[in-house]
Amino acid sequence: MSIKILVVEDEEALQHLLEYNLSREGFEVTVVADGAEVMDMVHEIEPDFVLLDWMLPNISGIEICRQIRAKTATRHIPIIMVTARGEEEDRVRGLDKGADDYLTKPFSISELVARIKAVLRRVNPAIVGSVVNFADITLDRETMRVKRGKRNIDLGPTEFKLLDVFIQRPGRVFSREQLLDRVWGQDVYVENRTVDVHVGRLRKALNKRGEIDPIRTVRASGYALDETYGG
Ligand code: CA
Repeated sequence: MSIKILVVEDEEALQHLLEYNLSREGFEVTVVADGAEVMDMVHEIEPDFVLLDWMLPNISGIEICRQIRAKTATRHIPIIMVTARGEEEDRVRGLDKGADDYLTKPFSISELVARIKAVLRRVNPAIVGSVVNFADITLDRETMRVKRGKRNIDLGPTEFKLLDVFIQRPGRVFSREQLLDRVWGQDVYVENRTVDVHVGRLRKALNKRGEIDPIRTVRASGYALDETYGG
């Protein structure tokens, strides 16, 4: 399961460095340089993480941070704010506009990656751990095994990825397009109906013994892992 990072940075050299190194770490990286385009990108790609430079053209990083935190659809997204050393650094710390962590330029890639993982572990443990639990469902990303209670669930690779997407955000409704994007990838052409087929297979495997269906169909919207399931 790849983690989507939106890198907001206007220095070209740093853009390339971050894109190259974070991709190598397995993150799916999108770079945006113009502060005015950031919110549109956030809504479009729905990143799991935002790395945000403080000094940007048009809109400051602080203002973007405020906007991300102000909206219900985006306020959960973890943010690391990047600042220059000195006065700016002090101001960012003093302002505390809702960033989860701060990093001062220049920083090493290994430090950045460690910080990103630490923030993700804290804010959204379901996205980084190798074993994720929800109610009686256990998903292990290393062994690709899924259990419901004590029962082993046999899933194909697509159904496994689907469950992985759902389990990261119980309760969140994913449209078919969003599931296509996250499970099949953006560059693949697959019909929306294919999503229904694979959700059907996932359900069949999970509910083989007539258990309660943990997946909710939301009419005209898509699918969600029922957050009320299992109490
Ligand atoms: Ca800058």
